[in-house]
Amino acid sequence: MDCVVAIDGPVAVGKSSVARRVAAALGIRHINTGAMYRAVALKLMRLRGDDPNVDEATMVDIARNARIDLPREGGVLLDGEDVSDAIRDEQVSNFTAVVADSAKVRDILVEHQRRLGADEPSVLEGRDIGTVVFKNAALKIFLDASPQVRVERRVGQLRSKGLPVNREEVFQDLLERDQRDRLRPTGGLKMADDATLIDTTHYEEDFVIELICALVREHPCFQERLVVRT
Ligand code: C5P
Repeated sequence: MDCVVAIDGPVAVGKSSVARRVAAALGIRHINTGAMYRAVALKLMRLRGDDPNVDEATMVDIARNARIDLPREGGVLLDGEDVSDAIRDEQVSNFTAVVADSAKVRDILVEHQRRLGADEPSVLEGRDIGTVVFKNAALKIFLDASPQVRVERRVGQLRSKGLPVNREEVFQDLLERDQRDRLRPTGGLKMADDATLIDTTHYEEDFVIELICALVREHPCFQERLVVRT
């Protein structure tokens, strides 16, 4: 069994914030796998422009040679450069979906994620953590929420960054991303059979974090390995 907390779920459900805060509360490592796919997409865009018709061999080459680090204090480094903000760009998001569709790119990143998670107790978040990356994770959580609530969460995120918001566009974008995530033949979004489903539609984030932390603390795999922070 791997001493890993696997958190999967659809876009804008609040995974990153929940995963980051759970990891901080438990004093363990947070690994945002979406940031790794984004970093590969950014490197590809910088080298090749934003034309999504890139051959797979080029994508694989970039994924294999990119140095992607996830520092403990948060963010993501690409070949030593802090790209935490750059990977959140809308164009990068669109391109990331193309990168994430490549089974060969996925193999490379999954291997990297397994190495990171095997090093020490960790919280990994993404779409395929419980189904592919760590099938033997000690704890698997699937976060979900109604599309309406996820739209409101995304609208809140955009507003907090001072960006213009069109609710209908946000809604359509979310439905498209859901569809693409679920239909992806390799590593598609799917709840693992042995995952715990937490529907966060009516829950505050603090409550979700408390719930997950309680599940982790009572699991024997983590009991002797946690630095508990209150
Ligand atoms: O989580 P985030 O939205 O940042 O993920 C960026 C992109 O990477 C999305 O298109 C998502 O589907 C993809 N992804 C993936 N597998 C993961 C994490 C993210 O395919 N484990």
